[in-house]
Amino acid sequence: MKLQGTMIINDLGHLEIGGCDTVELAKDYGTPLYVIDEELFRQNCRDYYQAFTETYGAEVIYASKTLSNLAICAIVNQEGLGLDVVSGGELFTAAKAKFPMDRVYFHGNNKSVEELKMALDYKVGRIMVDNLYELGLLNAIAAEAGQKAKIMLRLSPGVEAHTHEYIKTGQIDSKFGLTLENGMALSAVKRCLELDNIELKGFHCHIGSQIFELQSYAHAAEVMMSFVRSVHQEAGYLAQELNLGGGLGIYYFRDDQPRPVKEYADIMMVALKEKAREFGLPVPKVIVEPGRSISGPSGTTLYTIGAIKDIPGIRKYVSVDGGMGDNPRPALYQSRYEACLANRITEEDAETVSIAGKCCESGDMLIWDVELPEVQAGDILAVSSTGAYNYSMSMNYNRLPRPAMVLAANNKAELIIRREDYADLIRNDVLPERLDSSVVNLAK
Ligand SMILES: *Cc1c(COP(=O)(O)O)cnc(C)c1O
Repeated sequence: MKLQGTMIINDLGHLEIGGCDTVELAKDYGTPLYVIDEELFRQNCRDYYQAFTETYGAEVIYASKTLSNLAICAIVNQEGLGLDVVSGGELFTAAKAKFPMDRVYFHGNNKSVEELKMALDYKVGRIMVDNLYELGLLNAIAAEAGQKAKIMLRLSPGVEAHTHEYIKTGQIDSKFGLTLENGMALSAVKRCLELDNIELKGFHCHIGSQIFELQSYAHAAEVMMSFVRSVHQEAGYLAQELNLGGGLGIYYFRDDQPRPVKEYADIMMVALKEKAREFGLPVPKVIVEPGRSISGPSGTTLYTIGAIKDIPGIRKYVSVDGGMGDNPRPALYQSRYEACLANRITEEDAETVSIAGKCCESGDMLIWDVELPEVQAGDILAVSSTGAYNYSMSMNYNRLPRPAMVLAANNKAELIIRREDYADLIRNDVLPERLDSSVVNLAK
């Protein structure tokens, strides 16, 4: 397992994060346990702030769908970043963390009436309008509230980035945004200009996730700038802001070669400025929305190893006390992860095993084929790069309580999400009186 952030191996041969011995953390807080490396999370925020805000005056907003809770919102605020939320729940979390609402951007392809009202009520910075239905709805709700909603239009620019390549066209078939190619986007702009309670600030696109090919960002910037020009020519509207999304790739597994944030910023901003100059237009204010590349590398999950099943000549299954409930990504899209034995990290690898979760699904496998020292029940397994899309995608399948999360920094760990208990699992269950076993005589 590659050591990231503040990870070190201490004198006991244990993995340490933020100066905390992970074997001790497992003892103190139980497993599974999410450990967030606060210094690394903050450093990732600062890399973005430097590369985009200090260098180009761009705004960086953290995609809270990757990991959102009160402590994380507070840290993001301290680091001077904004917040991208995609639901009333994420917006509520931001509000409860006292996040400045003018730096909140509200996304989503099917925001409800309640969510739109909430966004206006909270006075979020921008509402990212995804479609014409939402545009009409928001205009009506804003009129009722006596407000002018500040919006950006989400566009589908026909640039689809993949991990190592990108496709220039053919992303018309997407549930997100207004299509550029067929004139849908242009007519939406014209519609915005007719509506009394809508103030159009600019355009948004997001071309994908876990991207290593930085040229795709340059291309997206150029396509968006070309759209700014054609709207200027055809509708007399000059966009002030361009939100170019997130998606920078991170290290999960030995094939991954993440690119520095600074390179990403330079490639994208240079392309944008060049286009603006070519068109004789001012450079719009740029916004970027990184999620995974801030939260992902800062998270590590600790598990306790239990049952081990060796099928000679076939495979050795090593089961842990979590799995798809706390990390659905391998089951959802075959994501690959690295792991180590946190309590015996200096020992030589001795065998290839597969890490199984404890859910009643054959697909609940965290890692197929990982090299480890000879494993024993009771060992602590650490899986790295689990900060993004893990807790936020976690679930209670098999009625497994969600794990706790701690923030590790300066030799200290602090609880930021408490572990669910069994009472939490039945909190929303309702038992109709006629079914209450203490009332009904089942033997009858
Ligand atoms: C998911 C998402 C992001 C963040 O993507 P990452 O790959 O986590 O950086 C940003 N913007 C939008 C609109 C998204 O849907």
